[in-house]
Amino acid sequence: MSYTYKKVVVKVGSNVVTRADGTLDVTRLSSLVDQIALLHKAGIEIILISSGAVAAGKSELTTHKKLDDVSQRQLYSAVGQAKLIDRYYELFREHNISVGQILTTKEDFSTRRHYLNQRNCMQVMLDCGVIPIVNENDTIAVSELMFTDNDELSGLIASMMDMEALFILSNVDGIYDGPPADANTKVIRQVEPGKDLTDYIQQGKSSFGRGGMLTKATIARKIADEGITVYISNGERAGILQELLTSPSPLGTCFLPAPIEVSNIKKWMAHSESFTQGALWLNETASELFEKSATVASILPVGLMRVEGTFKKDDIVRILNNNGDKIGVGKVRYNSEKIATMLGKHGLRAVVHYDYLYIEETHEIN
Ligand code: GLU
Repeated sequence: MSYTYKKVVVKVGSNVVTRADGTLDVTRLSSLVDQIALLHKAGIEIILISSGAVAAGKSELTTHKKLDDVSQRQLYSAVGQAKLIDRYYELFREHNISVGQILTTKEDFSTRRHYLNQRNCMQVMLDCGVIPIVNENDTIAVSELMFTDNDELSGLIASMMDMEALFILSNVDGIYDGPPADANTKVIRQVEPGKDLTDYIQQGKSSFGRGGMLTKATIARKIADEGITVYISNGERAGILQELLTSPSPLGTCFLPAPIEVSNIKKWMAHSESFTQGALWLNETASELFEKSATVASILPVGLMRVEGTFKKDDIVRILNNNGDKIGVGKVRYNSEKIATMLGKHGLRAVVHYDYLYIEETHEIN
């Protein structure tokens, strides 16, 4: 059997692993585990991102205490994650496959050191034939430091681990080109690099998970722009993982990868926006230059008109064009005070070197 990819991230949503009443759907879990086990035995490296902890905990507990949203999520996830991992552990054990649990938070990706520690942890598991099962650590991740949802987390991990493909499995076949109730509506099968699908997507989200189709599509676009193939597919479809890895045209929406190599450090920066400390504003000339071609350029003081916020050397900052639109992120060589003295000057060293600059794909017009 020949497989299209050797290294994949599989993300399963809460609605795939739970029944309508919120209890864990053990039949579905068992089917997913059987599929993953087959692939694992064929030598495919797999990282599993599984939601379902909050839903599983909620269906288990009846408390008469009045709890706020954060406390509820903390309580349910603490109980539910134990149940979830226990199920996976037992199901994989029947296949003689070891699994390990990784609970993470957005903060764990904030510094390059944290990021590399996580990367190393997952790599060592994969090298030793252990399947990492990842979820957000909902018991300690609160409000502004939470991932939008596990779709965002799965994208970050696919990018961090240099995977070839990311499969986002939910309970629909993909992104539709019209209202799902309409008989003429079809699943959009392929999305070219740089194409925006937001017009097709209906707002609203599934009943248990945090994410919706809009965040799935946004993450899928971003990850595909980093050179990774992304499928949004139906995790309830029998044999979906085998289909995604072996069929020439699996059912789902495929975001074709951009034909570019993005270095690991740039991938980290691409996902660091929430940790940025400030911004550099490009002047008109530099903005036009980056509009036309951002492929090989560093940011020089002569191209800058403003510094926003206070930051230190080596911090990640947002790069804005002269209209204030964000076009990327970069790691600065100097602190904000020093850069403020360099604005518009000729003949000085770059403030952000090209190797540490990530310009978003939609601005890279070649
Ligand atoms: N981490 C949450 C859970 O396990 C799910 C978040 C999401 O819906 O993406 O329940």
